[in-house]
Amino acid sequence: MVESRGYAAKSASTVLEPFAFQRRDVGDKDIQIEIDYCGVCHSDIHQARNEWGGSLFPMVPGHEIVGTVTRVGKGVSKFKVGDLAGIGCLVDSCRTCPACVDGDEQFCQSGMVGTYNSKGKDGLMTYGGYSTNYVVDEKYSLTIPKNLDLKAVAPLLCAGITTFSPLRHWKVGKGHKIGVIGLGGLGHMAVKFAKAFGAEVTVFSTSHSKEKDAALLGAHHFVATKDANPFKGLEGKYDFLFNTVSAPHDLNEFLKLLGRNGTMIIVGVPPASTAIDAFSLIANRRSIGGSLIGGIGETQEMLNYCGAHNIVSEIEQIDMKDINTAYERMLKGDVRYRFVIDAKSI
Ligand code: NAP
Ligand code: ZN
Ligand code: ZN
Repeated sequence: MVESRGYAAKSASTVLEPFAFQRRDVGDKDIQIEIDYCGVCHSDIHQARNEWGGSLFPMVPGHEIVGTVTRVGKGVSKFKVGDLAGIGCLVDSCRTCPACVDGDEQFCQSGMVGTYNSKGKDGLMTYGGYSTNYVVDEKYSLTIPKNLDLKAVAPLLCAGITTFSPLRHWKVGKGHKIGVIGLGGLGHMAVKFAKAFGAEVTVFSTSHSKEKDAALLGAHHFVATKDANPFKGLEGKYDFLFNTVSAPHDLNEFLKLLGRNGTMIIVGVPPASTAIDAFSLIANRRSIGGSLIGGIGETQEMLNYCGAHNIVSEIEQIDMKDINTAYERMLKGDVRYRFVIDAKSI
């Protein structure tokens, strides 16, 4: 077995603390990486606090992982020792169902194996990237463009693909008006990609505090949703709304902003649901869709796109011991725009 150290939640009500554990031995198709950086996703908080139910403890969160290859199995062809590698939200799937064959491994009919909070085919718990190393099948790992700042690449492995994939799926681009709701980790990547794809971007944020940043990220317009009458004059104006909000909120007031055949794309997963009024949908023949991360092939495509267009995440680097404070700050919307753990601090 491979010895590893990290930070774990021992239960839904305890803070994260140091934790030693083991990973599987490096198999023929596996690589072992020494983790350099791991991003902090709001899904880590939801799961560590069991807000979605079914969490497995002890839990080492983290699915935005970049590192350096330290061992390769004898059947590995994509990597050699010393190469950079990335690991996102999923580390295995059945490989044979229609979803897997189509490259939509996140929708595997047997269930994908999550990078953490999951059980592998060998029955072992998976532990995430708030740790020193990881062992993964090379098929479920990514190659990293060499020209980008490595610590700012880490969040692309979840926040990047979760925004890139639906924007591509719904073919958002030139001539479209899109509103990005919530300017956090996912929101700021949605702004960067939507802008890069040619859309006119409006940020909907709870306060004015992120207004300047929104413009620097490439947004054309900004709406502070806690202002008096924030939506006046905006009804029916948008082709798409990209909803990244992590807490329960009223969807109906946003749906009114969609024009004819407009679509709200939901990626945020608040722990509690909100009622949708049928009138919000029948007017203008509106739709609501959702999207879950992205497949391995598309994640590689996203990373290559970022390499070619110099796109990375805006990050604040933290030491591992500061993770509990980082969680509290994220819950207040106080992150610009992704915390990234320096794994050398573990
Ligand atoms: P984050 O960095 O914490 O950003 C969430 C943003 O939502 C905040 O910055 C804030 O934006 C806004 N917000 C928070 N509470 C709000 C409230 N009560 N009312 C209105 N706006 C509020 O989180 P993240 O990492 O981007 O993740 C966002 C959500 O996506 C989470 O639920 C996460 O689990 C989910 N997620 C889904 C997928 C997927 O595959 N679908 C993948 C990753 C994450 P402002 O400060 O601008 O108001
Ligand atoms: Zn995530
Ligand atoms: Zn499958």
